[in-house]
Amino acid sequence: MLIRRSAQVFAATLALSVPLFATPSALAEDVRAAAVTITYDDSQATEYTDAITAGIAVWNDNLDNVQIDKVEPGGQADVSFVADPGWPRAELGPAMPGDDLTIWFGKEAVDDGYNLTRIASHEFGHSLGLPDVKPGPCSSLMSGSTGGVDCDNAVPNAEEIAAVEDNYAGGFAPRDREAAVVVVG
Ligand SMILES: [Zn+2]
Repeated sequence: MLIRRSAQVFAATLALSVPLFATPSALAEDVRAAAVTITYDDSQATEYTDAITAGIAVWNDNLDNVQIDKVEPGGQADVSFVADPGWPRAELGPAMPGDDLTIWFGKEAVDDGYNLTRIASHEFGHSLGLPDVKPGPCSSLMSGSTGGVDCDNAVPNAEEIAAVEDNYAGGFAPRDREAAVVVVG
């Protein structure tokens, strides 16, 4: 009886001690997660899915502080692309988890011949909190249409990337979105 009890105590001590020695802090630092993850939906803009996927990928390739995932089917996205007959426009972010922002993927610009991926990444730049910078060169994503109809640059410049990183540097920061929704073109 005494031996059995000692064995139990020893096992319990061993179990307790394992976590103490199995949590190297370096491991946690190696797994670097974005501070904020937001979701988007393209189910109401299916004709532009390829452009939207490419435009989102551009941002994910360039950002560390925020990750953008496609929402699960039936889920509530933080940003929704909607196909629209007018000029492209968006509600200004920075989008946070729980938001319900809209991007209108306007057909007017599509019919004029503007690059679809640039439209998608430009409008999502608004969702990430960037204003328009017009007039601007093609190298600026947020110069939008003033970059010229032949401009196919869908990649933000260093300044634009830094501004988004700054918007999400503090992590999740919910705002009263209904009080101040700003629509930009
Ligand atoms: Zn714009």
